[in-house]
Amino acid sequence: MSLLDNSSVFNVDSALLDSVLNHTPLCIAFKNMSGKIIRVNQLFAHLFGLSESEVIGKFEAELFPLELGKELSKLDAKVTAEARFFEKEIVLSIKGVQRVFMLIKFPWLTEQQEEFGIGCILTDITHTKWLEKKYGLAQKVIENAAEAVVFTDAQGLIVDVNDAYQNITGYRRSELIGKNPNVLKSGRHDRQFYQAMWMQIKEQGAWSGEVWDRRKNGEIYPKWLMINAMTDDDGIPTGYVGIFNDLSEKKEAEEKLEELSFYDPLTHLPNRVLFYDRLSVGISIAKREKHQLAVLMIDLDRFKVINDSLGHNIGDELLELIAKRFLTLGRESDTVARLGGDEFAILLPELKSAEDASVVAQNVIDALLAPFSLEEHNINIGASIGISIFPCDGADVNGLVKRAELALYKAKEQGRNNYQYFSQELQDAVFDQLEMEDEMRHAIENEEFTLFFQPKISLATNKITGMEALVRWIHPEKGLIPPDRFIPLAEESGLIIPLGEWILQTACRETADWVKRYDDSLVVAVNLSAKQFKADNLLETIQKTLHDYRLDPKNIELEITESCVMEDVEGALQTMKDFRENHLKLAIDDFGTGYSSLGYLKQFPMSTLKIDRSFVMDLTTDSDDAAIVEVVILLAEKLGLEVVAEGVETEAQLEFLRLQGCQYVQGYLLSRPLPAEEFEQFLKKSYKCS
Ligand code: C2E
Ligand code: CA
Ligand code: CA
Repeated sequence: MSLLDNSSVFNVDSALLDSVLNHTPLCIAFKNMSGKIIRVNQLFAHLFGLSESEVIGKFEAELFPLELGKELSKLDAKVTAEARFFEKEIVLSIKGVQRVFMLIKFPWLTEQQEEFGIGCILTDITHTKWLEKKYGLAQKVIENAAEAVVFTDAQGLIVDVNDAYQNITGYRRSELIGKNPNVLKSGRHDRQFYQAMWMQIKEQGAWSGEVWDRRKNGEIYPKWLMINAMTDDDGIPTGYVGIFNDLSEKKEAEEKLEELSFYDPLTHLPNRVLFYDRLSVGISIAKREKHQLAVLMIDLDRFKVINDSLGHNIGDELLELIAKRFLTLGRESDTVARLGGDEFAILLPELKSAEDASVVAQNVIDALLAPFSLEEHNINIGASIGISIFPCDGADVNGLVKRAELALYKAKEQGRNNYQYFSQELQDAVFDQLEMEDEMRHAIENEEFTLFFQPKISLATNKITGMEALVRWIHPEKGLIPPDRFIPLAEESGLIIPLGEWILQTACRETADWVKRYDDSLVVAVNLSAKQFKADNLLETIQKTLHDYRLDPKNIELEITESCVMEDVEGALQTMKDFRENHLKLAIDDFGTGYSSLGYLKQFPMSTLKIDRSFVMDLTTDSDDAAIVEVVILLAEKLGLEVVAEGVETEAQLEFLRLQGCQYVQGYLLSRPLPAEEFEQFLKKSYKCS
């Protein structure tokens, strides 16, 4: 018994004791009354990196760190004085690693059987401590989690819940413990739903999904619920953990997002994205069920003018009211959408015959007949509608939309308040246009354009005071093409910019020559298209051209149409001011057709009004037109503007205009537009006469 310092003490049970000491996971030591260690097991000695024999005979103070040693001897005093065991948690650094031990000191009777020795047991509790800490942390996490957490026993009765659970459900912990979580049921899910859920938990140990529950206050809310089964080693459930999020805010946000991405915020009608989606679904169904479908593209007539002149607020309100009227048309299954601006569309997903679409189109037009009253205004507005039919006009979303748009252009061309079906001729016309656009590109290079000039006569002096430059296209095969046919195309394709520059240069070149040779006060009027008028470098281009041909600004006047001005009143006003500052004259062309309000007219720094041909035409037969011409002439006089009547074809018209005090006239009666050489002959003659 090498381990024994004093073997007699352990005589009786020595073998038994040995066996215990050497097989226990505990570290054990015995000290006698004087505090000297008299017996230890191997584990105890190894704690200090020593063998058993090295430890025996030592005092604790020699083994433990100094401070700890002192504490332990105090404990020894207590053990002997009170004759009972004490325990204490201590931390020992062993090979640089901190380990936690539970130290138990207990009294024992020494061999003298009348005095106490002290027994000492050290249990390594490092792992337990670590677990405690870890679970303490987990507990904290659960308690403070944003997710609701519920623990149930194997029967599914609530054992505990966290704060979030109480907050979300509205129940207090004490109201829940011992209850089944089905107290939260909303009644939105049927029995099968819960059966399937529990089936999956039994089979797979977990389930997750969206559940609608009811809060204590009765409110129903969606949540994302995860349930996990906790099982023992044999896989028998010992309880369940449920974790869930309140989805109601997320749901609301999702709905908002959907509203924003699929609906027009102003009218709450479906937007373009949703319309195309419904159309796509409609096409699939129509294909399967073999029925027809219609797309109606709707464009409000002259909405822009109303919007610009009465303000955007009124424009918005008007759109809302129009949307409301549209919603009362057609069937529940139809989709009325706002595609943007003043563009609407209707999808008729099931048609018996193509003609049925015209009934809805007519309803749209009729719905707008009654004026809209907004503030003090009574607003009349019409609509143009283009219709395409599945399957005959197109088999997919794009095809149908494109063709309905083509039909819409046709409807707009026909004048207000009408609808047009797509037709093959329309398609062919478009191809014609595409072809023409292509040819026009080459026409600039090939110098197929030419300028004609129409004289402008002063009624006071009967003399030519100027001429309007009017472009012509002499097509090598098709002959003379009038500007009405290609200017809109040039405008659309952007070709108007190079073409416009060419027109300006040619007009200035010819005019510079005539100014020199005939009359230094001749004024050439050059038409500007809307795109040219909006171009940033317009003023520069004009000034450079004048400079290049040494022409004075007083010899040129630019004509823009009234509708072009009304498209962007602010922008137009600025450009006009720039013109005025640079001594450039500006005429408002086609005056009377663009609905400009008198209020604007006063602000616009322009020099000339050109009365539209349509009024002059019926001057002598239509008293309304006569009245309009009279008023315009009067107005021009009041505003200090020059006034030109265009399209004068008869003596009677001329006489009327003269009587009303119109200053200038232009028209076939005096001369048609002429090629430059012929115009020069005309000039020559007129100056010879005078
Ligand atoms: P506009 O500026 O109103 O030009 C007047 C139009 O009336 C011209 O048609 C002219 O030939 C026509 N006209 C003149 N007197 C009479 C008449 O007594 N009776 C009739 N029935 N018509 C008369 P045109 O040359 O066919 O031009 C049509 C439109 O094309 C022009 O209308 C203008 O808007 C545009 N345009 C013509 N040349 C140019 C140009 O160089 N640049 C731009 N941007 N547009 C042009
Ligand atoms: Ca003109
Ligand atoms: Ca005109």
